[in-house]
Amino acid sequence: MKLVFATNNANKVKEVQSLLPSHITILSLKDIGCEEDIPETQPTIEGNAIQKAQYIKEHYGYDCFADDTGLEVNALNGEPGVFSARYAGEQRNADDNMNKLLNELQDKNDRSAHFKTVVALILNGQQHTFEGICKGSIINEKIGDQGFGYDPIFMANGFEETFAQISLAEKNCVGHRGKAVQKLIDFLNTNN
Ligand code: IMP
Repeated sequence: MKLVFATNNANKVKEVQSLLPSHITILSLKDIGCEEDIPETQPTIEGNAIQKAQYIKEHYGYDCFADDTGLEVNALNGEPGVFSARYAGEQRNADDNMNKLLNELQDKNDRSAHFKTVVALILNGQQHTFEGICKGSIINEKIGDQGFGYDPIFMANGFEETFAQISLAEKNCVGHRGKAVQKLIDFLNTNN
């Protein structure tokens, strides 16, 4: 069975492929000749994941899964959420986004937040979604140089280092994306 992962990140494809039975082959967007920007215009993280998976099914005919992630900060009523990538503007710059968030939280006592990933799967005409949440808090300054996005200002509950300081293996274990992808893999291993 061939299943498209709607991503251009070769590492993500490799990682998921290694966890699946050999009769399921994961294809990337590059593998199917998709070079266009897939629309992500929905108002929710779940909506965007579903939109991306449906787009591939409709335009390329493959069963497909797609992921979408956002950082939801409690004192900001869930912002930046679905706008995480472009919180400080269309330049989608991680430093600008973090600076804006630290600024917004300057006078707030509640620093709790969570990352949320939704993976949407379209398989045999059915749609399924899998969610992964990682709870933590936003610290007062950027620390660490690994990872990406908001990692330098996010500390997962139970950790004393930010996501930009811990190893990728540790992040995958407790992280939002790892949890959602594991649910997808459990589903594919059980149902196919
Ligand atoms: P995407 O849906 O995976 O493209 O994520 C949207 C945005 O959320 C990214 O541009 C980052 O700003 C942020 N983000 C997603 N995952 C992470 C993460 O694991 N650490 C830090 N920031 C993340």
